[in-house]
Amino acid sequence: MKCKITLLPGDGIGVEVTEAAVKVMNQVADNFNITLEFNSQLIGGASYEKNGSPLTDETLQSCYDSDAVFLGAAGGPKWENLPHHLKPEAALLKLRKALGLFTNIRPAKIYEALIDSSTLKKEVLQGTDFIVLRELTGGIYFGTPRGFDKNRGWNTMEYSYEEVERIARMAFKMARERGKKVTSVDKANVLEVSQFWRNIVHEVHKEFADVELKDMYVDNAAMQIVRNPKQFDVLLTSNLFGDILSDIAGMITGSLGMLPSASIGSKYSLYEPVHGSAPDIAGQGKANPLAAISSAAMMFNYSFGMQKAAEVIEEAIERTLAQGLRTPDIFSEGCRSVSTEEMTNAVIENINEIYHNQALGVFTL
Ligand code: NAD
Repeated sequence: MKCKITLLPGDGIGVEVTEAAVKVMNQVADNFNITLEFNSQLIGGASYEKNGSPLTDETLQSCYDSDAVFLGAAGGPKWENLPHHLKPEAALLKLRKALGLFTNIRPAKIYEALIDSSTLKKEVLQGTDFIVLRELTGGIYFGTPRGFDKNRGWNTMEYSYEEVERIARMAFKMARERGKKVTSVDKANVLEVSQFWRNIVHEVHKEFADVELKDMYVDNAAMQIVRNPKQFDVLLTSNLFGDILSDIAGMITGSLGMLPSASIGSKYSLYEPVHGSAPDIAGQGKANPLAAISSAAMMFNYSFGMQKAAEVIEEAIERTLAQGLRTPDIFSEGCRSVSTEEMTNAVIENINEIYHNQALGVFTL
């Protein structure tokens, strides 16, 4: 099997964690006997510096021509004062829209070795394993009219029937493969667009009678994630609500450096760590590569149908953490402080060990 991947390292630590993820991908490709073909392109500030635009047609074309896209991170203080459409962050929105990536998936699960480093109590966290399914190409981030003048600022929160229907269907399908529970988040007591959202989710639910559906107001959902995260299986949200709730859910795992994500549409998919370019630690070898590596695991699973490969990567991350290796963002007493590269190499060693300790026959696609 041959898979074409467009790499968009971007800015700051995006470059460092992409390098780490590629090392891991290459190892897994070796073990599982597949060929990965990489095409690296600029995005964000790096692209603006070279081309005067944060996202060029060439980069976009490379994404269209690939089986999957892997993104590091884009942005940084240097480009903060550019006009909105030239900012690195604008490239991300444009890219998601252009690739039709209407769903963002963020797992919120506990790594056993890190359970004590979370700000939440161990007994609250234990057994937590849910995903936030966030609508990514509609809602208030894209609605028009939008703007501001001296006296007023305005945005529009809008969803079409089709936009809600397709993500609701994806949520129910995913729940069917997991804990068979969807919690749909809205603010239907105040917002008409949320009542519309709720109506459609219930309509789609009729096709999935085996999956439990619960509605939850967004303010309550924020509270419940911290109070009792175990209650969730698939948390279905609009764009804005998901942006906020997935960061709250993210803190369950302790650090931004641990959070992977996948963005999926009907034709294309993009994988990226949740964190940004972290200018405060860029170029110092301090970046935690595990979010990026775990995003690569999601890529093997969702884009290449290699669930076993994804499991091996996740198991290798668990083992590396259990061995006490920590980048500074997740460091705690008694652990060994390591660099981005050392952490990556340890994960690779563990991947190989897991691979060699099992019968080769297990590793079929
Ligand atoms: P950030 O995620 O870059 O950093 C927040 C904090 O978390 C920093 O202290 C950073 O050092 C730490 N951190 C983040 N990732 C880490 C990792 N892998 N290992 C260790 N520590 C890590 O968020 P920010 O500082 O608000 O944003 C910086 C830039 O990144 C901004 O320009 C922002 O717009 C951009 N950004 C991009 C993306 C993306 O590309 N998807 C996402 C968020 C922010």
